[in-house]
Amino acid sequence: MTEHLFNKILIANRGEIAVRVMRTAKALGIRTVAIYSDADASALHVQQADEAIALGGVTAAESYLDMHKVLDAARATGAEAIHPGYGFLSENAAFARACEDAGIAFIGPSAAAIEAMGDKASAKALLADSGVPLVPGYHGDEQSDERLSTEAERIGYPLLLKASAGGGGKGMRIVLSAATLHDDIAAARREARSAFGDDRLLIEKYLIRPRHVEVQVFMDSFGNGVYLFERDCSVQRRHQKVIEEAPAPGMTAALRQRMGEAALAVAQRIQYRGAGTVEFLLDANHEFFFMEMNTRLQVEHPVTEMITGVDLVYWQLRVAAGKGLPQDVSQQSLPINGHAIEIRLYAEDPDNHFLPAIGRLKLWQAPERSASVRLDSGVQQGDEVSPYYDPMLAKLIAHGRDRTEALHNLRTALAALQVDGVKTNRDFLLRLLSLEAFANAELSTDFIERNQHELTQPLPTHWELAALTELLLPTLASQPQQQAHDPWHADGFQSALPAQRVLRLESAAGDVLRARARANDQGWNLQLADQSVQLQGRLELKGQADDIRLLQLEARVNGQQQSLPLALSEHELLLFLPQGSQRFVRNRWLGEQAQDDHGGLTAPMAGQVLEVKVQPGEQVEAGQVLMIMEAMKMEHSIRAPQAALVQAVLYQAGDQVAEGTELLQLEITAEAEAENAAEADA
Ligand code: ADP
Repeated sequence: MTEHLFNKILIANRGEIAVRVMRTAKALGIRTVAIYSDADASALHVQQADEAIALGGVTAAESYLDMHKVLDAARATGAEAIHPGYGFLSENAAFARACEDAGIAFIGPSAAAIEAMGDKASAKALLADSGVPLVPGYHGDEQSDERLSTEAERIGYPLLLKASAGGGGKGMRIVLSAATLHDDIAAARREARSAFGDDRLLIEKYLIRPRHVEVQVFMDSFGNGVYLFERDCSVQRRHQKVIEEAPAPGMTAALRQRMGEAALAVAQRIQYRGAGTVEFLLDANHEFFFMEMNTRLQVEHPVTEMITGVDLVYWQLRVAAGKGLPQDVSQQSLPINGHAIEIRLYAEDPDNHFLPAIGRLKLWQAPERSASVRLDSGVQQGDEVSPYYDPMLAKLIAHGRDRTEALHNLRTALAALQVDGVKTNRDFLLRLLSLEAFANAELSTDFIERNQHELTQPLPTHWELAALTELLLPTLASQPQQQAHDPWHADGFQSALPAQRVLRLESAAGDVLRARARANDQGWNLQLADQSVQLQGRLELKGQADDIRLLQLEARVNGQQQSLPLALSEHELLLFLPQGSQRFVRNRWLGEQAQDDHGGLTAPMAGQVLEVKVQPGEQVEAGQVLMIMEAMKMEHSIRAPQAALVQAVLYQAGDQVAEGTELLQLEITAEAEAENAAEADA
């Protein structure tokens, strides 16, 4: 990749795809220009670009979708080409044409090719006599209710209504019988009109349990084309992909060739140029049907790159610069090496219909990249996830010599990805990847619905790991930098800990457990409800993100060894278990107050002490109110986190205190310890 293609390109996108395109451009010595909305001023893609142009505006329409602003940015910076990524303007024929008119290379197909495939109905009409199999259906211009009902009768139920102008799963409706057809047509039209400004519908036979298998094609401007094999994208929610893999499990060489050639025929029919994807539905009898062609780079292109070793963005840049496919490339020469699987990490709530989530990414720790693990990410810790754009945060892709190894690598990498602050589908994906049905590649587009039961089973609460973390916490402060000795050795820091402790543990679901831990020469014996657990372990500080400490817990529970990352703040403990994350509430009694390392109680915010309810020397119970503060016209109670002896009261009623000021000191005496223990036994 050393030849000269462009001096400078503009990337008309944001997030992971913008960052990904920059990676290849930089490797080729091409300068990159980012564009950004007001909401993205500090986004990763802006930081990574050589130059960045503010578009102003916040919504997509005011920024990334405003083709005049984008073209102005390209002109102003002297960019010779524009990479549109996916979404936004990538399949906008008018934009491709405007680029051509402005003398700026559009890194994608011709405007005519985009137009030909932009409408699902006309794309099908175009392919009617091409020999490419279509899903049985109706894609005509005549849109009266009568005509649509007649066609529905001919096609048979169940059927699918789709918006001709559709995309992203919007405007699709399954119709089970003639009884609801009229209402469904009306609803689909409404959805299509509001989403695409176009209410034309097409009808397709609704295939039962098909797989979504698509073929990556690539053509240069000289009519040379290849297919880079297929991807299985059957694991979907709301008709949108969440897991993709290449090659598709269960493919035969003959089927691969038939599908590949059909896909290439579609591309050739429209004199395609660049990277494109032809989507098919594949049924159990290995019959396949054309669905649509996406005239751009797909989100899931990395799995194809991983098995073929091809950098598709490099090929795109070559072709946009007027060059052909690389010399040594032919259909015969393209390899399939091993297997690759991708997951799409979304800011969304799997427990609430996968609706997009927003918030601040207060924790974002990516797994290590390697030859077999690729992370395409557009975010960094501290980013604000806004409601304005697509909620995809990143893609994690893993390769292996075979599917089993790729799956193992992906699960390991995803388990190491730590995210918090915004709801994501991380745990849901971990669960998907852990299903036996997934390991067995029992793929079909209803995979998630079919496995709903298993996917929603709650994880058992790992009280013992939460307890062990609390027990080991005091060792963190005194931990030497390098701990060369055997972590399981009970000597050293563990013996310096109190001989007995009572822990109050609370799960995020609000379940509370009191556990008594007694130190022994192996670590601790923990009485958890009616079971007794032998615990041993070691806690290591790995990093810090704001008020969150990132720790690694080496645990041995009844002799069973495990190692897991966790995130700890004053009020929360988040365990990143291999099966998913698990949250615990800490220091409930402190409310919003903080307890410092010496058992002191500090002011949660600047304010005034209203009332002191205890005196030094007084024995207090867990939860007892010690002091009342006022701040911002609201009263806050400072409570005892556990039974203790009041050692010192540092402020009196009427005093003004700054945030973080120590207010009282408590001591856990033997008497208090006994009380805590008694409470635990109760
Ligand atoms: P969009 O362009 O809105 O994403 P597609 O036409 O690509 O819509 O279809 C999205 C998904 O919907 C497919 O991957 C598949 O799961 C499902 N689907 C589409 N057409 C059919 C059909 N005829 N029968 C069964 N499922 C279908």
